[in-house]
Amino acid sequence: MALQKNNSVSKKDSTMNMARIILIFLLIPAMLGMAQRPSIEEGGKLRVVTSIPDLADFTARIGGGYVTVESLAKGVEDPHGVPIKPSFVPKLNRADALVVLGLQAEHSWLPALIDVARNPNILPGGVGFINSSQNIRPKQVPKSLLRREGDVHPLGNPHFNLDPVYAKVMAKNIAEGLTRLYPPGKEFFDTNLKNFQAHIDTQLAKWKRLAEPLRGKKFVSYHQDTIYFAERFGLEEVAQIEIRPGIEPTQGHLVWLVDRMKGKQVNLILREPHYPERLPNWVAEQTGSTVAKFLIMVGGNPGVDTYEQLIEYNLRSILDAAGTKTVAHRPDS
Ligand SMILES: [Zn+2]
Repeated sequence: MALQKNNSVSKKDSTMNMARIILIFLLIPAMLGMAQRPSIEEGGKLRVVTSIPDLADFTARIGGGYVTVESLAKGVEDPHGVPIKPSFVPKLNRADALVVLGLQAEHSWLPALIDVARNPNILPGGVGFINSSQNIRPKQVPKSLLRREGDVHPLGNPHFNLDPVYAKVMAKNIAEGLTRLYPPGKEFFDTNLKNFQAHIDTQLAKWKRLAEPLRGKKFVSYHQDTIYFAERFGLEEVAQIEIRPGIEPTQGHLVWLVDRMKGKQVNLILREPHYPERLPNWVAEQTGSTVAKFLIMVGGNPGVDTYEQLIEYNLRSILDAAGTKTVAHRPDS
């Protein structure tokens, strides 16, 4: 009996040992891959993860061949509530850098992921943590902290990416972050930054001309994400469908909104792609307004793959809705 038992145990042991050996063999290529990850000099790249696609666009342009970059959020999602996928964790775990929008825009989904990813480099204050909101002066800062009531802009409006002047600041923050990670690349990153900033300056002059017919145009949006764009291009933000950022409207708020729009003769509503059409359409019916799609991130519409396309899309969408002719603008002028 005892002998039989011993035999069966040793059989079981040897099966388990075999399983272990197979598992180790299976892991070896992955382990070798980790050990043999080439240095940047050998053609390896910095792995950069960004929260939103605009940051991925900027990073790719500053980092060039030194980086691979991927955004966690898609352009059609809500940057305050990105649906979390299991694939995010290994991406963050392997990342050399994480670029965030900042001002706690990603508070409801990103910090928990960073915790789980166990990668000290990308923790706030870590060498690979890049905060794009450095040197941004936030607008619409709440007078008191309303997070407990669900306010998603506790440190002020974080949609500064929609101001091309701030796009230049964000790109500078990224260039500095990449230089911190790879100091020999400083000259390369700085040159790309200068080129990007010069390019944005040229575009901005064109965009301002394109936006001229919109000067003083009043509008309502769903979410409080338009102020930087509006002030840069001379439009006037009047109110939002949301009561406060992240707080859905009540009947009373909608009555107030319709009244205010009529009083101020507002006939334009901007709808961000991640909000349903029903409420903007209802408000439009009540006030005789036109609804224009307004993208808050790169990738918010098919064909909007770069930052320039994002700004251009929004201006043309508003010009169309406002019934303004755009023939004065020539793409090459
Ligand atoms: Zn927001």
